[in-house]
Amino acid sequence: MSDAPNLAAVLRRYWGYHEFRPKQENVIRSLLAARDTCVVMPTGGGKSLCYQLPAVISGKTAVVVSPLIALMQDQAAQLAQMGIPAAAINSMQSSAERRAVMEKAARGEYRLLYLSPERLAAENTFEWLSKVPVGFFAVDEAHCISEWGHEFRPDYRQLSRLRTQFPALPIAAFTASATRQVRHDILKQLQMRKPDCYIASFHRENLRYVVHECEARTQMELLGRALRQYAGESVIVYSPTIRRVEETVEFLEESGIAAVPYHAKMEAAMRRQNQERWMSDEARVLVGTIAFGLGINKPAVRAVIHLSLPKSIEQYYQEAGRAGRDGRPADCVLLWQKRDHVLLDYFIHQISDDAERERSSERKRVISRFADSHGCRQRAICLHFGETPKWEKCGGCDNCGARPEWVSNVSVEVPLVAARETSFPSTYRSLPKSGHARMPAGAPEADPALAEYLREWRRNMARENKVPAYIILHDSTLEELCRRKPANLGQLKQVPGIGEKKADVYGAEILQALRNFGEGARAAPTVAKEPAPAEQTLRLLREGRSFEEIGRLRARQVSTVVSTVANLIESGRLKLDPKWISPDAQPLIEAACLEKGVERLRDIKEAVPPYVSFEDIKLVVAHLRAENRVRAKTA
Ligand code: ADP
Ligand code: ZN
Repeated sequence: MSDAPNLAAVLRRYWGYHEFRPKQENVIRSLLAARDTCVVMPTGGGKSLCYQLPAVISGKTAVVVSPLIALMQDQAAQLAQMGIPAAAINSMQSSAERRAVMEKAARGEYRLLYLSPERLAAENTFEWLSKVPVGFFAVDEAHCISEWGHEFRPDYRQLSRLRTQFPALPIAAFTASATRQVRHDILKQLQMRKPDCYIASFHRENLRYVVHECEARTQMELLGRALRQYAGESVIVYSPTIRRVEETVEFLEESGIAAVPYHAKMEAAMRRQNQERWMSDEARVLVGTIAFGLGINKPAVRAVIHLSLPKSIEQYYQEAGRAGRDGRPADCVLLWQKRDHVLLDYFIHQISDDAERERSSERKRVISRFADSHGCRQRAICLHFGETPKWEKCGGCDNCGARPEWVSNVSVEVPLVAARETSFPSTYRSLPKSGHARMPAGAPEADPALAEYLREWRRNMARENKVPAYIILHDSTLEELCRRKPANLGQLKQVPGIGEKKADVYGAEILQALRNFGEGARAAPTVAKEPAPAEQTLRLLREGRSFEEIGRLRARQVSTVVSTVANLIESGRLKLDPKWISPDAQPLIEAACLEKGVERLRDIKEAVPPYVSFEDIKLVVAHLRAENRVRAKTA
């Protein structure tokens, strides 16, 4: 192409990528032509590049409004790694830091400047911005501006002032999730002028949707089976409540699957640490509430598993869409239960605004229909977002015949502790090799030991630079390195994902690491795992600790500790100690069990005085189940 600038050359030089993804180039050209632009593109489609590349070329500053502090910092760090000056202004900085950034911005030193909507609304911001050589505004997560959207943020409404304050500057809006109504609202609120609109397809070919209704008793077993498919790969598991986050982590650890929890009630330091361990591939499975993942931009996530019905298709699409951002095959698994409706209804009833409550019920109806449907999942999602695919079947979802084997044939009886026997190998960490996350046919197999060695190198590098591992090198780049084994800088620069700056900064080290490996160097064996939760709890009980103390020491809620103890009792590894339960509660519970059976704790709860807690009941029921089992055996 003759017209300057040569976009492909810039793409290659800074990003190390060899071609544009669909629609990226058009969006970039619209922005370079200073046109208002609205972009709807699924997660992983490559939206950031659409505003970053024109910012690099323009020589001016693109101001990016983003609701997520973590994302802003992450992107600024990634850009710095590529040699593109960028900064973020947010509430986490000291005022001195903030001032420094603002001064540099006024001198035009940044190509990209990230701001939160609150910052934009703050006093003096517009005055300062008028001194910055702004090229255009990019509004990320633009659906937050609409109350028809599922993530309405009132502070986004401030953004309509961009147009009035800076009438000459173009505005670009980006979102991964917008129904027609929301799209319309975005254009209106931002007062866009004859915008160029780009709507990419919501069909994400590399994602396999699998939706399965399960029973409470089999859900965990299914989860365990699913996770075994992704051993060694990064997975996110979404749990509806904090309590179920913890119970799920305990269950998985009992089954020999290392997992870390993430939820709002954890201590901030621990939460951050867990997130970082997951980001750096030290922990592969992260179990979180939906608080996790906003602004998380890890490319190589092989599965996102939901343990309950989300509140809407939009929410589901966004969360599930965190799988497979690198464009390689990934699974989106929804394991739901009938009782999820109860929780959703509860949330809906809490909404005081009538109109919003009605919108929420409608969202729930739509997602329930989606879960029950026998039609193509990809198609259902496209239709929901106002797109009419020309095809009927994607061929890749559960309803199009791609139902994985592990979903069927679940046994019903799942004693928690017995699951240990079918545990993972202790080195629960390896290469993407098995399953359907495979490389294109014909490509030489990457050497697992080499990949492990390069991962170790990357981990150290990430630690030194205090950035997530994927900011140093994406998994796809790392794997490509293993296959191509470049011997010199020229060959290294041919590897997708190695731009000029990366080659400058890390090139020599990467080549050295490859040589070291060739001469026999190997990654250090990974550290021994922590003992399983039950072992830790047993030890602490033997030390005479109370449930509260154990909860504190293990960073778990008391109810989670009680569940672990109940499982130990049920499996016969521990005897019930009367001092664990409320005085006199045991005979009352036992009497209630005789009448109601030991299946449903709620029935028992209704039959005993209110002071008897669920925890009391859990422990006594576990004791009775253990005794029944012994009796059944000897009878
Ligand atoms: P989105 O914001 O739309 O979810 P991102 O901007 O985070 O997507 O991009 C998703 C991933 O795709 C990132 O890892 C990014 O580096 C990568 N990517 C973007 N554009 C390209 C391209 N043209 N070629 C290869 N990888 C790309
Ligand atoms: Zn399908």
